[in-house]
Parts: sequence; structure tokens; C-alpha cells
Amino acid sequence: MIDLIGRTEPLVDAFRRPITYLRISVTDRCNLRCVYCMPEAGLAWIPKPAILSYEEIAEIVHAAATVGVSSIRLTGGEPLIRRNLERLVTMLHAIPGIDDIALSTNGLLLADQAAGLRAAGLDRVNVSLDTLDPDRFTAIARRPGLDRVLAGIDAAIAADLGPVKINCVLMRGTNDDELEAFAALTRQRAVHVRFIEVMPCTRTSRCRRRHGYRPTRCLNAWAASVRSHRSSICTATALPACSRTPERPARSA
Ligand code: SF4
Repeated sequence: MIDLIGRTEPLVDAFRRPITYLRISVTDRCNLRCVYCMPEAGLAWIPKPAILSYEEIAEIVHAAATVGVSSIRLTGGEPLIRRNLERLVTMLHAIPGIDDIALSTNGLLLADQAAGLRAAGLDRVNVSLDTLDPDRFTAIARRPGLDRVLAGIDAAIAADLGPVKINCVLMRGTNDDELEAFAALTRQRAVHVRFIEVMPCTRTSRCRRRHGYRPTRCLNAWAASVRSHRSSICTATALPACSRTPERPARSA
């Protein structure tokens, strides 16, 4: 943990590289129950009084900006279920030195909020989306909503929250037959698709053993056989599976 308050020299890592990026989880709660993330019944949520207020978050970001942080990502849980997130974005946008505010979301509530968040100062969104099949979406997320997520992606594009990036957790035997469908999506909508692997942590270890993939290996094999798509914006990365932060022991799944 870094004590930002009272610090004046720029943040650097062990190799003297500047640290300019800060992720902030605004809630641990979520309106989905993805199989690789949490039990169907949910988790032992943090009591609301224990969660940082928007004013407290802004104070931390202000301190971070004074030591070189310029880029913020808001995550959860699902950040859009926290009431009036626009107010926080407005507060962060007004902090000198903060020039990039991004949001990671599952997209369910994005259609209604995209324009307002853009007006408040949000720059970009990443949307978690593992399948383009409605039934499969319900099986993976344990809740329906593919149509709402696609509407959210379209609203984000319309609100100029680009580049809109789609994070797809690739799972063996679950959605690995949809690579071409996601590649095709990049030709239908102005989105970037990133294939990521199931995050290796305790609660998902069994899921990871069963479904885990090395996306680059899978993508390379696929790219060799499907050259005709020529999708230049499909990439494979090894990022956390979702927008939530895994530090909390009860949720280190
Ligand atoms: S992976 Fe993301 S969207 Fe799915 S349950 Fe976890 S926090 Fe929610």
C-alpha cells in the first residue's frame, strides 16, 4: 500500500517507470453472477458504510494526481449499479492532472447511462461480453441480458466513448466456437475485441482447469485457418477476467 497523502515525488515502480494509472473499484456488488467469478447466491458484500464515498475517492485521486497519476479506470463489481456514478465522474474530471477516465462494465445498464457519463467527462469504456448467443449468455452470467449489453455497446459508440473494447473470457468447450463471430462483430460495430483467460485465483481454479485457455495459442491456430476475416483489431491478452478487483479475501475467487 502506498501512502499518497503528503507525498510529493512522482510515483515510480521498482524499475523507475512512472506510475500514471489508477484503478478504483466503486462497489463489490454486481447484477450478474458469472460462473468464473462468484457463486449464484452472491457474496458477503461489504457493508455500505464501509465503502468509500465519492468525496473520499476524489480526495484519493486528487492526491494521486499530485504524484503523477493521470489515468483512472472505474471498476466494480459492476460500477454502473452504484447510484449516480455521473457525479463521481464529474468530480474526477475536474481534478487537475486527470486527463483520462475509463470505465469497465458488464454493459447491462450502459444504454441508459452512456450519454450522461460522456457528458460528465468519461472518455472510454470496456465491456465484458463472453458470448453472442442469448442462451449461452444466460448460462455463463446466470442472468439474461445479451440484448441489453449489445444496446449498451451501441449507446457507448453513439456517445463517442471509444474505442469501445470488448473483453471476452475464452473458455474451452463453452464459447471457444465463437471466435469468428466476435471477429465478425468488429466488422459490424466499431469495437475492439480482446480475448482473455480465466483469472487464476482460488475460487475459479476448478473452472480454470476445466475451461482454461491460453488465448494466444487458440488465436494463433484460429488465425492460421481463417485468414479471410483479416480482423486487425482482434487481440489476445492476459487480463483479469472481469472488472472487479480481487484483493478482498472473501472474493478472491
Ligand atoms: S465477472 Fe464481472 S460481470 Fe460477471 S459477476 Fe463478476 S463482476 Fe459481475
